[in-house]
Amino acid sequence: MSDNCLFCKIARGEIPSRKVYEDEEVFAFHDINPVAPVHFMLVPKLHLVSLIDAEEAHAALLGKMLLLVPKLAKEQGLDNGFRMVINSGKGGGQEVFHLHIHVIGGGNIPPMVKRS
Ligand code: 5GP
Ligand code: ZN
Repeated sequence: MSDNCLFCKIARGEIPSRKVYEDEEVFAFHDINPVAPVHFMLVPKLHLVSLIDAEEAHAALLGKMLLLVPKLAKEQGLDNGFRMVINSGKGGGQEVFHLHIHVIGGGNIPPMVKRS
């Protein structure tokens, strides 16, 4: 846990959020600024800065998170599929430096990257 991390504070319940799921290792909550009708994030309670900082020791936790995503997506009504995004590092557009998986769906999901 990191004292000054927004998502650590959300996972600890110190900053309110619309909770989707919680267990002893992970926390999921709706994005405050959704890009689609359903947009939530899944984070480890462990403060991990990004996927770039993940190590072998985190393999089980990351695997658990990946397997949890389709279950939570379905619970949120995404019967027809979803998009999963992990922005990693400044070069990947990450803005909050606590590893999080975006789960996005419902409505029209545009192509992943706009080609010019
Ligand atoms: P990133 O760009 O780091 O992948 O995504 C950060 C996400 O966190 C953004 O989609 C943003 O809308 C969301 N976010 C930022 N601050 C808050 C907050 O205080 N509460 C919630 N629920 N989401 C937040
Ligand atoms: Zn954190």
